[in-house]
Amino acid sequence: MSNPRPSVRFYFLGGLGEIGRNCLVVEQNNELLLIDCGLMFPSPDMHGIDLVLPDFTFLRENADRIVGCVATHGHEDHVGALQFLLREMSFPIYGSEVTLGLAAHRIEEAGLLNRTSLITVADGERRLIGSFEVEFLPVTHSVPHAHAIVLHTSQGVVVHSGDFKIDLTPVDDRRTDLARLGAIASNNGVRLLLADSTNAEERGHAPSEREVGAVLRQVIAEQRGRRIITASFASHIHRAQQLIEAAVDNGRVVATLGRSMQKNVRLALDLGLMNVPRSSIIDIDEVADRDPADVLILATGSQGEPMSVLALLARGDNKWVKLGDNDTVILSSTPIPGNEMNVSRVIDGLLRAGARVVHSGIADVHATGHAQAEDLKTYLSIVQPEWYVPIHGEYRHLVANAELGVTMGVPRRQVLVASDGDVLELSDDGLDFAGRVPAAHLYVDGIVGDVGQGVLRDRRVLAEEGVVVVIVTVDEATNEVLTGPEIITRGWVYAPEADDLLDEACEYVAQAVERALREGTRDIETLEREVRRAAGRFVNDRTKRRPMIVPVVMSA
Ligand SMILES: [Zn+2]
Ligand SMILES: [Zn+2]
Repeated sequence: MSNPRPSVRFYFLGGLGEIGRNCLVVEQNNELLLIDCGLMFPSPDMHGIDLVLPDFTFLRENADRIVGCVATHGHEDHVGALQFLLREMSFPIYGSEVTLGLAAHRIEEAGLLNRTSLITVADGERRLIGSFEVEFLPVTHSVPHAHAIVLHTSQGVVVHSGDFKIDLTPVDDRRTDLARLGAIASNNGVRLLLADSTNAEERGHAPSEREVGAVLRQVIAEQRGRRIITASFASHIHRAQQLIEAAVDNGRVVATLGRSMQKNVRLALDLGLMNVPRSSIIDIDEVADRDPADVLILATGSQGEPMSVLALLARGDNKWVKLGDNDTVILSSTPIPGNEMNVSRVIDGLLRAGARVVHSGIADVHATGHAQAEDLKTYLSIVQPEWYVPIHGEYRHLVANAELGVTMGVPRRQVLVASDGDVLELSDDGLDFAGRVPAAHLYVDGIVGDVGQGVLRDRRVLAEEGVVVVIVTVDEATNEVLTGPEIITRGWVYAPEADDLLDEACEYVAQAVERALREGTRDIETLEREVRRAAGRFVNDRTKRRPMIVPVVMSA
């Protein structure tokens, strides 16, 4: 055979082993192309964290080699980290008009639109980005105009499925382009497929979005005489469209509540994605003047986020809408794993306020945007990849998706389950692991960039075990304890009820300090270590707890 063809590398910076912060870097000819750069919402044990981002170390060190970012669709877990990455570097972003419209909201808020150029691509378009030949294939998902990415590389065709479902009757009739995938597969063959694993564990086919529309129409018709408030994802424009259509058919006008819903409905109207009479949309200020029975309010907060519109409504904290027993709330969504508690709490609040609540546990008012097991099998049977790598999912989803690959005939050794930080290399010899890059969580807390693992560990200890501060003053001249030890505690024991225990603790620490002083210890740091050790031992012996111990030793 002739010279080996140049290899192509894949750096997974996020999204493998978690739902969120999807970020893949593809390398060829010494150039880097990003596919998505998303964020992740924190889990409840990440105390005080607002957002989690991909690790940017690799991108920072190779910023001059980045030729652009391809955005598959406008969800936050795919474009939400761009506004942070663009603070540090500059590159163009490619995607559909809707994808870029949604991405631009956040980038604009961060004042960084000048750091990028947003380049709109059409369905089926094939274009050169640096040396990357990129084809954008339409896919159906829970946000309009999503794309799968086909890379025509020196190592053959690589297909990135994007987030997708196989819906034969989507609201906009824009179906996942299985025909083109089939043509590519039979003409060129697909060397590598990276595919969405989110619903790989769910049996059967994902239901069509249009079925949800029929149910919503029915549920809305049944609420005659009542005001209706719906909660759904702001980016789920087709859901919003179906809700608006059902409302209009039932003689209602629609108001949006929540900034993101308002922005996205406006975007959808501007882009001509939503075919509803503009006169049917009223301002939230006008709701008070209308008969409640003629109104439907489109709100956000379907995941029970504590500061969201729906949570505020449930607490009676909204300026425009006060819930009562003439209201019906429809949660047109299903909780993302981890959000069940919050959603449940919000439903309780809505019911306590007197509202009637309809959710996906009661009626089919939601359909997933991700392919289920049978859909993935269909996809695999069409693409017939030589190598298969599950992406976008918790570890269990990746493993389930890998099994689907094997079931559909990909040889087991050609199915690789990778993790965040893994580097894969596609060469003439096939696909193999080729090292690691940093892929830690980057924690965003308010305006502070990265609060780091240490801070988070401290917060976890503080939340679960509390803190014990021990203050001692030693006399430099006599090397004796001058004052203290004094103990201040929060979250360990309730101090007013534990006088004896605290006295004992002071006594125990005092002895340890005096012993150290007698043995000639003078250095403050060493004394503090001694205080920490003694206090820690006492606390653990007596209460079987491990609060944070903060020793403060002063000399006078
Ligand atoms: Zn998505
Ligand atoms: Zn996603």
